[in-house]
Amino acid sequence: MTIWIEGARIDADPGSAKDSLLHEMIHLELLAATSDSDAVHGDRFKARADEIGDALGLLPIGFSPDIEVAARTWPMLQREAARMVRQAKRAADKVADEKKRREREKQKAARRARRNR
Ligand SMILES: [Zn+2]
Repeated sequence: MTIWIEGARIDADPGSAKDSLLHEMIHLELLAATSDSDAVHGDRFKARADEIGDALGLLPIGFSPDIEVAARTWPMLQREAARMVRQAKRAADKVADEKKRREREKQKAARRARRNR
């Protein structure tokens, strides 16, 4: 997919192209409503982006310590961050499951040892 924004050509995979369009649609929505697209990603942009992001399961713009970058790159950064949080959660769950499994094995071995005394 190719998108032209202010003369710049962006070749992107369909996923990130959709994210770019979504970002620009917020600017257009704000422009249509108030004649100001909030090009600096101010409070109006952030509020609308977080409203949509919440419905999409994305992290809020404020998750990042650099809120300006987080707003400028919305929703790509939030989508990637949400993916990483899910990945970290799965890894933590796996570690917890393994810990439980080892604990059960240890208890089984202890019971066996008591029976064989
Ligand atoms: Zn923007």
